Amino acid sequence: MPKVATLGEILVEIVAEERGHGFRQPVQLVGPFPSGAPAIFIDQVAKLGQACGIISCVGDDDFGWLNLKRLGDDGVDVKAIEVLPGFVTGSAFVRYRDSGDRDFVYNISNSACGQVRLTDAAAELLGECGHLHVSGASLFSAHLSEMTTKAVELVKSNGGSISFDPNIRKEVARDPEVRAALETMLEYCDTFLPSGEELTLLTRATTPEAAIREILGLGVTAIVVKNGAEGATYHDANGSLSAPGYPVDELDPTGAGDCFGATFITCRLQGRSVEESLDYANASGARAVGIRGPMEGTSSFAQLDALRSGAQEPGRMTRPRALVNFRGSRAGVGPTGITSVCSAHPMVVEAAIRQAASDGTSVLIEATCNQVNHQGGYTGLTPVAFRDQVHRIADQVGFPRRDIVLGGDHLGPSPWRHLPAEAALGQAEAMVAAYVAAGYEKIHLDTSMGCQGEPDHLPDSVTAERAARLAVIAQAVAADTSTAPRYVIGTEVPVPGGAAEEIEHLEVTRPEAVAATLQAHRRAFAAAGAEACFEAVIALVVQPGVEFDDRNVVVYQPERARELAAALGEMPGLVFEVHSTDYQPPESLARLVSDGFAILKVGPGLTFALREALYALDHIAAELDPSWCEHSLMAEMEDEMLANPGYWQSHCRGEPDSQRVLRHFGYSDRIRYYWASSASQEAVQRLLDRLTRTGIPKSLISQFLPTLYPRVASGALDLTPRTLALQAVRDVLSVYAAACRATRAMGQPSTPGIGLS
Ligand code: ATP
Ligand code: MG
Repeated sequence: MPKVATLGEILVEIVAEERGHGFRQPVQLVGPFPSGAPAIFIDQVAKLGQACGIISCVGDDDFGWLNLKRLGDDGVDVKAIEVLPGFVTGSAFVRYRDSGDRDFVYNISNSACGQVRLTDAAAELLGECGHLHVSGASLFSAHLSEMTTKAVELVKSNGGSISFDPNIRKEVARDPEVRAALETMLEYCDTFLPSGEELTLLTRATTPEAAIREILGLGVTAIVVKNGAEGATYHDANGSLSAPGYPVDELDPTGAGDCFGATFITCRLQGRSVEESLDYANASGARAVGIRGPMEGTSSFAQLDALRSGAQEPGRMTRPRALVNFRGSRAGVGPTGITSVCSAHPMVVEAAIRQAASDGTSVLIEATCNQVNHQGGYTGLTPVAFRDQVHRIADQVGFPRRDIVLGGDHLGPSPWRHLPAEAALGQAEAMVAAYVAAGYEKIHLDTSMGCQGEPDHLPDSVTAERAARLAVIAQAVAADTSTAPRYVIGTEVPVPGGAAEEIEHLEVTRPEAVAATLQAHRRAFAAAGAEACFEAVIALVVQPGVEFDDRNVVVYQPERARELAAALGEMPGLVFEVHSTDYQPPESLARLVSDGFAILKVGPGLTFALREALYALDHIAAELDPSWCEHSLMAEMEDEMLANPGYWQSHCRGEPDSQRVLRHFGYSDRIRYYWASSASQEAVQRLLDRLTRTGIPKSLISQFLPTLYPRVASGALDLTPRTLALQAVRDVLSVYAAACRATRAMGQPSTPGIGLS
């Protein structure tokens, strides 16, 4: 099989997260992503298992390293990539305008990749290759055009073939030198890969048909015209063949053409038919546009086959349908429940993302009003910052951002309820606006609590009026973003953070109360002109009889919730959301889902599992080194909690000794508020570093983390402290995942409209 080569620019792309006009104000950026049209092309060739290499230059810097590593890891021969000291790697800053067009700030011609030369290594690569691909974007200087022409002539004289993607904007093609270089390439190439109007850009002919005749007349063997979402059309001397595109949600069009071209060329070189090659190429372009980041969407044959066969790849859905489908989709479709991960702890978020990747689902992650709000909350994070933190973790794990659904929990006046109602609601409005603007899709409007001078729990009509007020703001902000938020309402909402008092008597929501709440909200939303928001309400928070306090867990008793569950039948398109499902036994979670309590929120139960694992590791460290006890993790956490008792004091009752036990080990998991402090973070890191350095004897895993031991013993689980701690959290989440799938597996009808896949 002939080796494929290309030459041209390698760069990093850094993308603005918000739409806007230029780069004249500070904006949030994400990146660097490996990029450059030839680099994307060759990475895609490598992913298909084809021998290949690229001739290019990078600087001796991290941007260069990043590209070398990615290309090398994916199987590209990188010997002809010169690392040039004294030059920086090329870069492009990209910003989307409101129209969807892109704005760039480039550093390419003056960067390392403007210096590409035919070095000895480059000549060697060209000598080995049987096909050379040229991207028009690389012909940006006389020097590069000349060098490219030399390379093309060399490959042709060895009997190799050439493909050419003009990849060019109309304005650039008017430059006479660039135009001449493009025309030369058109004459030299065997396969021409224009997109849309590029077909007629280099011809005298102005209609597509005439252009095709003219180009074939130049000796070009095949023309493949890329038509975006529509797919592509192939032309040669024998005729034409069109192939439709794959329907996907376009997230990032950059690189689609390069992936398409690379896949088409590789398939043809491997002897596949035009028809099959076009189909693979369309699948490749579709995957590329569906994944953010220019080179992030390159595909293996297995991934392309999955898309072609309509099967879902684990961890990569076409979109997080969770919220899209919540309402009004066909009954019986999709999983029946959804786990809502309510934690801002980065390790919990990572565990949730990793679990979703291995389950092949999307992941719903929610932040709570006290944790994350426009003023920072107790984590110090705004909705944008929290979103970015989640996205960074997803990027590190390699999980597609589009499979993450973000939610805002208990959005309402709660953090400001000590203020007069008007002031507290003003803050709530600002918070809701910040969440929606940051792209959160699931918005829980919780306005049931009284503010200064009001009763603790407000009447339905007042709650609904206030919720409508927030919905109006959400709707207005959403109109300026690409998100269509879904809402959760309900007045039977436990206080954020769990019950502070011992639970003596837990009322199950009465069906009449559900009907009244819904009615009050319908009316209030209509009065506020927010009917559309009411249509976007997907769930109602209810209390089916599950709760926990410091020492006790109230386990779900289906018979107590029977009437409530039956009330769902009167509310087509809606599901129930349940808070405080932490610590429920697996069979109770499954039963909740099958009874229609489809959204299961879990938070403290996850940080609790993480704390258990960290404390177990702490014990292991102490066994390995008795002097560890002096600065053990638990001792550090105790110091932290005693120095700042605000988060545990009112929850952990009793004598000092039992208070100590409760603040570390209580179900309320008050310790979770302390993990974000820098002292705690350092203590955790010290523990993980220490055990990473010394290693962990397996027999101590058996002693202190017995549930993980069988997997460690069999080699299924890495014996690194971080992996073990993450796995402890994942084990809780996998019980939830099983509960959410359970009813489907049993063949019972599923809850209408819920789908995480
Ligand atoms: P680039 O911006 O990377 O230069 P291009 O303009 O060369 O792209 P396009 O026609 O935009 O090429 O896309 C190339 C191929 O990718 C299409 O032929 C199609 O197979 C696929 N593709 C592009 N956009 C979509 C989409 N929205 N949905 C599905 N497939 C798409
Ligand atoms: Mg293109």
